[in-house]
Amino acid sequence: MTTPRLFIVIPCYNEQEALPITAQRLVKLTDDMIGKSIISPESRIVLVDDGSRDDTWRVIAGLHAQDPRFEGVKLAHNAGHMNALWAGMTLCAERCDCVITIDADLQDDINAMVAFLEEYRKGADVVYGVRGSRKKDTFFKRATAQGFYKMMNAMGAELVYNHADYRLLSRRALQALLSFGEVNMFLRGMVPMLGFRTAQVSYERGERVAGESKYPLKKMLAFAMEGVTSLSNKPIRYVLLLGVLCALLGVAMGVYVLVSLFKGHTVRGWASTMMSIWLLGGLQLIALGLIGEYIGKIYMETKRRPKFILEEHLK
Ligand code: UDP
Ligand code: MG
Repeated sequence: MTTPRLFIVIPCYNEQEALPITAQRLVKLTDDMIGKSIISPESRIVLVDDGSRDDTWRVIAGLHAQDPRFEGVKLAHNAGHMNALWAGMTLCAERCDCVITIDADLQDDINAMVAFLEEYRKGADVVYGVRGSRKKDTFFKRATAQGFYKMMNAMGAELVYNHADYRLLSRRALQALLSFGEVNMFLRGMVPMLGFRTAQVSYERGERVAGESKYPLKKMLAFAMEGVTSLSNKPIRYVLLLGVLCALLGVAMGVYVLVSLFKGHTVRGWASTMMSIWLLGGLQLIALGLIGEYIGKIYMETKRRPKFILEEHLK
C-alpha cells in the first residue's frame, strides 16, 4: 500500500482565535506523519469558512499564502456545521485516499489521527473517534449524555456511543456517504448506515484551545431534534401506538360506562359523552398515525438514498 493522501477537513465558524493555534499544531503533526511515511506529502488541510462574520477568512487566506498545504473554502453564508463538513468532503473526494473531519477548536485530540491511520492501514474504511472515559465530567453530565444516546436509539437514530464528528473515512466510504441525497443531514447517524469495516479509537476530549462554543443550548436541542427526525419515522409510529392504546382503553371504558348505565348510577348524557371521548380520541390518533406513516414514507423517498452500497465486485 502506498502512503495515503490524507485530507483533513475542518469547519470554521467565527474561529479567528482558535485557527492560528489549530493550524500550527496540525502542521506539526502532518510534518511528523509525512516524515514517518504515514501519509503522503500531497496531503492537505482543508479549512471551510462557514460564512463567518469575523476575520476567519483572512486568517485562512493567510495560511494558504504561507503554506499551499492549506486549502481554503469559503461558503457564501452560514450553512451550518454539517453542511460545512459536507462542502469540504465533497471538494476533496476526488483527490484524497482518506479524509479526517475534526472541529476547529481541537477539543478532540489530534494525536489520535496516527491511530486512525493505523486502523485505516489495517483495512478499516470508517474509523470513529470515540471520547474515552468521562472521568472529568460531572455525574450529571455523564447521566444526561448516556440518557441522550439511549433516547436517540429508542427514537431510531443509531449512534456510536460517545462519538461526535471526529472520524476517518476511506475514499470509497466517503463516496458512498456523498451519494446520500438528503438535505437534512445528521452525519453521525448516517455514517453507521454505510456498512464497511469500522474501527474505533478512543481519546481524551479536552477544552477548546481558544474562542467560545458555537453551539449554544438552543442549537444543541435543534441538533438532537434533527438527529431524530432526519433519520427515522419512529416518533410517528409512537403516535399510532398511542392511538391503539387509547382505543383499547376506550373499549374498556365502554364496558365500564355500559355497566354503570344499566345499574342506573349515571346522569343523563354521561354515558354517550364518555364513550365518544375515548373512542373518538383513540380513532383520531390512529388516523393521524396512519397518515403520518405515509408522510414518513414520502419523506424517506424524497431523501433519494442509495438502495445499496457496493463493497466489492469480483468479475
Ligand atoms: N461550526 C460551523 N458552523 C456553525 C457552527 C459551528 O462550522 O454554524 C463549527 C465550529 O467552527 C467548530 C465545530 O463546528 O469547528 C464545532 O463547534 P463547537 O466546537 O463550537 O461546538 P461544541 O464543541 O461546543 O459542541
Ligand atoms: Mg468544540
